[in-house]
Amino acid sequence: MDMTIFNSVENIINKYSYEDAIRLLVRMLLAPDLERIFDKPKKILCIQPHPDDCDFSAGGTLIKSIRNGAEVTYLTLTDGSMGTVNPKLSPEELSVIRKKEQENAAKIIGIKKLIWLNYKDTELPYSSDIRKLLVNIIRREKPNIVLAPDPWLPYEGHPDHRITGILSVEAALFSSLVHYAISSYEENIEPHSIEYMVLYNTSKPNLYTNIDDVIEIKLKVLKQHESQFLNNWDNVELFIRTLNMLYGKIINAKYAEAFKVIPKDLLHVTTIVEHI
Ligand code: ZN
Repeated sequence: MDMTIFNSVENIINKYSYEDAIRLLVRMLLAPDLERIFDKPKKILCIQPHPDDCDFSAGGTLIKSIRNGAEVTYLTLTDGSMGTVNPKLSPEELSVIRKKEQENAAKIIGIKKLIWLNYKDTELPYSSDIRKLLVNIIRREKPNIVLAPDPWLPYEGHPDHRITGILSVEAALFSSLVHYAISSYEENIEPHSIEYMVLYNTSKPNLYTNIDDVIEIKLKVLKQHESQFLNNWDNVELFIRTLNMLYGKIINAKYAEAFKVIPKDLLHVTTIVEHI
């Protein structure tokens, strides 16, 4: 072991509080660019339960990342067919409408590729088959960063969000294992190791991204989801501006989005992740 490094570790642990020491050590030893992951061109896979979730929670950050050279793919797990209180609209009709809305929104953000798995909205199963499917997609798309809803968000009432989150984390963890989902090799897909798992809709953010210069574009993106927001647009806009302004307060920006960034190597048996 390199004692110079260990001496620095010991100094930090002695000098700082438990939480501050963890934050500093993770950045020193494992993830020096944790605060800047969206600044450099990257391949990003944004996984969402329904059309609109990525736009709502990460739209501003993704617009900026694409401007910085990132390539972003959206992966939507369900067909969005339940997201209405209008009895005249059938689930089948709604699903078609929401896909079109997501395509329009993606065009404004600059996303070129959308993948749809079409599981039934509200009934996404927790299954190893879907996990393998996600591993397959991660191996094919080779993202550096995978975004998904935080499956450990307290009080999240929507099962599709909890299940999308947990399946995404598991797939991100397993996609580098050479013997996992072996049938992938039939298509010559190599194992792939992501760098960062990024959770949106999180109660434990460790990264706030300034979206001051793109908030109006983010709102325009969300407005494309007419079936979800048009009847209620003023309230939706107020909610987004308020939430993003609250996050902005933390970094002295007017508007920000918030994420929990976890280096992939900390996704398993690491007890300190809450504090990174
Ligand atoms: Zn959703």
